[in-house]
Amino acid sequence: MRVTYVCDICGQPHETVEVEDVKLENLGINTLTPAEREDIIKYNDEQGLLLHSICPSCFEKQFVEPPGERPGL
Ligand SMILES: [Zn+2]
Repeated sequence: MRVTYVCDICGQPHETVEVEDVKLENLGINTLTPAEREDIIKYNDEQGLLLHSICPSCFEKQFVEPPGERPGL
């Protein structure tokens, strides 16, 4: 089945993988509580299993802010 990673911030799908047998352990989400899983895992006929995560570019924007670029602080 298909697994699509959708960015939580920009809403764009940023990675799609085809897997024969989805195991939660393989997705790295087996540590989540059932409620947390329901929150981030959705299913969609076109895109398969939707997993919300942050895409690399948003990740950079969020966490890798260049120093000294905030005016007036
Ligand atoms: Zn993004």
